[in-house]
Amino acid sequence: MIEKVLIANRGEIALRVLRACREMGIATVAVHSTADAQAMHVRLADESVCIGPPSVRESYLNIPAILTAASITGADAIHPGLGFLSENADFASMVEEHGLTFIGPTPEHIRMMGDKVIAKRAAEELGIPTVPGSDGAIGDIDAAVARAEEIGYPVLVKASGGGGGRGMKVARDSAELRQQIPLARAEAKAFFGNDEVYFEKYLNAPRHIEVQVLGDGHGNAIHLGERDCSLQRSHQKILEEAPSPILKPEARKHIGDIAIRAMQTLKYRGAGTLEFLYQDGQFAFIEMNTRIQVEHPVSELISGIDLVQEQIRIAAGGMLDIDQAQVELTGHAIECRINAENPLTFMPSPGKVTAYHAPGGYGVRVDSHLYQGYTVPSHYDSLVAKLIVHGRDRDECVRRLRRALQEYVIAGIETNIPLHLRLLDEPDFITGNYDIHWLERFMQRGV
Ligand code: ADP
Repeated sequence: MIEKVLIANRGEIALRVLRACREMGIATVAVHSTADAQAMHVRLADESVCIGPPSVRESYLNIPAILTAASITGADAIHPGLGFLSENADFASMVEEHGLTFIGPTPEHIRMMGDKVIAKRAAEELGIPTVPGSDGAIGDIDAAVARAEEIGYPVLVKASGGGGGRGMKVARDSAELRQQIPLARAEAKAFFGNDEVYFEKYLNAPRHIEVQVLGDGHGNAIHLGERDCSLQRSHQKILEEAPSPILKPEARKHIGDIAIRAMQTLKYRGAGTLEFLYQDGQFAFIEMNTRIQVEHPVSELISGIDLVQEQIRIAAGGMLDIDQAQVELTGHAIECRINAENPLTFMPSPGKVTAYHAPGGYGVRVDSHLYQGYTVPSHYDSLVAKLIVHGRDRDECVRRLRRALQEYVIAGIETNIPLHLRLLDEPDFITGNYDIHWLERFMQRGV
C-alpha cells in the first residue's frame, strides 16, 4: 500500500501525478524551489516543502533535500515525474535504500536504458531491430571510419548519455566523421558528463514511432499501441498523435509483439517507451525511456487506461490486471505541446499570465499548471500546457483540435498556439504525410 506520495517534480507533470494520487485516495507532498512557491501543484498538494533556490541543481536535482523532505513528511513513495531525476538510477536506489518506494522501474533497468550504447545492445539481445551503426561506443577512429564506410554515409554521431535531442552531429563523409567525433565527445562530456559517443546510420526520411509499454515486474507486460511523434524541431517533439496515421495494423501488431516479448523477458516494471525510427516499412530502435513521457495522454485517451495510476499501482506491488487481448484502442488522439515561447523565433517567453481561459467541451483535455496571475518562471523549460483531443477518427480529432486551439486564451506571455494552428491547416499534416524533418522544412519556408 502507498499512502503518501512525494512528487519530485514541477509544472504540468507534477499536477498530473497529483491528480492521479488524489483519485486513488493517496496523500501528496509537493516539493518546490523558491521560484515555484506559487505553483498550482504546490497549492493543491496536501503538504509542501521548499527544497531550495531556483537553480535545478540546488532544488529539483537536490537528492539530499528531496529525501529529507520525504522523511520529514512521512511520505512512503516518490514519483519522479519526467526529466530531472526520473532516469537517475542512483536516485532510484537511494530512494529504495531509504525504505521508500520508487514509482518507476528498477535501478538496473534505468541504468541499462540510460546508456544508449548498452541499451542498443540489450535491445538487440531482446530481438528488437536497431538502427545499424558503430559496434558499441567509438574507440579507435580508423575502425569507426571503416565501419561507417561499410554501412554508408550519412551517419549521425550521438552521445551514449545523451537526451533532450542535444549533441547529435551528422557526418556526410569520412573527413567529416573524423572531425565530428572529437567535437561530439567534448560536447557530450560538457552536457552529459560522459564523453562516450557512438554513431548510427542517419535516416533521411523516417517517422518517429514509439510504443507505450507497461510491465508489472512479474513478467506480465502489455502495450498501448504506438504514438507518432514525427513533428519535431531540433529533435524535440511538438505534436504527437496516436495511432500513427501511416501504420498498417500488421505493422502495429508486429512491433507491439516485439515490445511485449522484450518487456516480459526483462520483467520490466512500470511504464516505459520504446522509441523507433520507421522508414521503408522497417522499425529501428533508437532508445527506451524508463519513465512516463510528456506525450503519454494520447495513449490514455485511445486506451482508457490511466498510465500514472497504473505506475502507482504497479509500484505498490500490484499485478497487471488486463492482458493484451483486453487492451482496446479506439479513435484518434492528438497532443499539442504549448510552450511559452515566440511562435516564430522560439525565444522563451516567461512572465505573468494576465488572462487565462482553457478550452473544454467533448473530447478535450488540458494538462496545465497555468492560472490567471501565475508567473511563468524563467528558470525551467518552456512547456506550460498540453492540449490533448480525442475524436472517433483522425479527421474529427483534427477539427476538434483546431476548435480547441482557437478557444485557448493565454495572455501576457507568448505561446506557440499560432504555430499549432498553422500546422493544422497544412495539407501534409491533414493527410498525415510528414517525417521527422518536415517541421524544420516548414519553418524554413517562413510565415
Ligand atoms: P534524445 O534522447 O536526445 O531525444 P533520440 O535518440 O531519442 O535522442 O533521438 C531524438 C530524435 O533525433 C529522434 O526522434 C529523431 O528525430 C532524431 N534521430 C535520432 N537518431 C536518428 C537517426 N539515426 N537518423 C535520423 N534521425 C535520428
